Amino acid sequence: MTVAIALFTADLRVHDNPVLDAAVRGADEVVPLFVRDRGVDAAGFAAPNRLAFLADCLTDLDDALRQRGGHLVLRTGEVVEEVLRVAAETDARTVHMAGGVSRYARHREDRLRSELDAQRRELVVHDEVITAVAPGAVTPQGSDHFAVFTPYLRRWSDTTLRHVVAPPRTVRVPSSPSSAKLPVRAQVSGVSPGLAAGGETRARARLTAWLRHGVDAYEDRHDDLAGDATSRLSPYLHFGALSPVEAVHRARRAGGDGAQAFVRQLAWRDFHHQVLAARPRAAFADYRPRGDAWRAADEEVRAWREGRTGYPIVDAAMRQLAHEGWMHNRGRLLTASFLTKTLYADWRVGAAHFLDLLVDGDVANNQLNWQWVAGTGTDTRPNRVLNPLAQAKRFDPAGEYVRRWVPELAELAGAAVHRPWQLDEAERARYDYPAPIVDLAEGRARFLESRGAA
Ligand code: FAD
Repeated sequence: MTVAIALFTADLRVHDNPVLDAAVRGADEVVPLFVRDRGVDAAGFAAPNRLAFLADCLTDLDDALRQRGGHLVLRTGEVVEEVLRVAAETDARTVHMAGGVSRYARHREDRLRSELDAQRRELVVHDEVITAVAPGAVTPQGSDHFAVFTPYLRRWSDTTLRHVVAPPRTVRVPSSPSSAKLPVRAQVSGVSPGLAAGGETRARARLTAWLRHGVDAYEDRHDDLAGDATSRLSPYLHFGALSPVEAVHRARRAGGDGAQAFVRQLAWRDFHHQVLAARPRAAFADYRPRGDAWRAADEEVRAWREGRTGYPIVDAAMRQLAHEGWMHNRGRLLTASFLTKTLYADWRVGAAHFLDLLVDGDVANNQLNWQWVAGTGTDTRPNRVLNPLAQAKRFDPAGEYVRRWVPELAELAGAAVHRPWQLDEAERARYDYPAPIVDLAEGRARFLESRGAA
């Protein structure tokens, strides 16, 4: 009787999961294992929103495995130790897992490989599980990664993706390994009240609905803040409740300009992963240092976090983040630009706040998008500054998004909601809303001067 371990990480699904598939095919019995990793907690990465979403994903994964005759084995502790323990308990000869890209994931993989080697067990790492195209699979001449998106996209689009893998019909789990109780979402405290529910079942239903009813309008409406016309698949992709390979195949089959634009966004996800895989320090260090002397700006940063900057479009987006643990991409762009350019505060401060709340918060996409906006990353126009008023006019012309998230201003009609400081004094006094914390022109000039681009 041969036993293999399928070690789940950021691939919490049974559909199109090469890790689970290889483990089931390669052995008589399989231990579907998830380790609630203390190292992740210690690194401060276990934010309540993600823990709650994770609980949903694990419950759903366990259900899916039970429908196939198995169940999930959950352990808590140090991941390498726990895998070795389960391997010893079940005499598993092989461990399958998805290749990760962060420094932490790489380190975990290396340690696991050497410890398993020492016990004459094998670690098999599968690519194209967490991303559609593996980091490093396409590279420009003379470099180990693409630093600019457009040429990356060209090569990414020409790459033949692997086929979608069918979910296993049966999963036979040995009786020996005990499992901790699965976490329950309701037991996690500090969760955003509007947090979405997690799990593969929901992910698949959302993808299907999106491709039927949403994607066609995506190209035209993806920046419409109030329209909320994006897929909202990012948390499911982050936890691997949805396979990026399958998402690309299905979107391409759906066809049309909207689907093409959606696939392009999935390529952005892979792009950031391949940058981080090649430059793990980009998680905390400037990818392209610009000699910035960031301001501490504690009070202003606090106002930004709390959604009380006096710029309603910025505040609306920050409050959406607090309420849902998710923010529209246009909101992420304009709030990040406001922090790093208008206030000229360090992108790491903003990135850390996002990681505290974002249910889809991951090192590759969060840190590298922050760097992109701050102009220390891969943006080819590093000194552009987004003007929140111009953004509001373009992407929330009727003020609907602001009225939804800034209830103090809900009575203000039309675009007036974007400039409450222009009301006369008596009227302004009726709204409990702060005056702008910064003058936009001054903030912009300060930033450009510091960058030597005035
Ligand atoms: P859609 O518009 O429906 O796009 C489909 C998918 O493409 C997304 O689910 C996502 O997986 C991917 N995608 C879209 N835009 C990007 C992008 N710019 N970079 C990478 N992938 C993208 N995305 C995260 O998944 N995690 C993060 O931590 C994260 N932090 C961000 C921080 C900042 C400052 C900015 C500007 C963007 C960040 N993004 C992050 C990217 C993007 O905002 C979200 O992926 C997107 O808003 C998720 O909503 P959606 O699923 O409806 O996206």
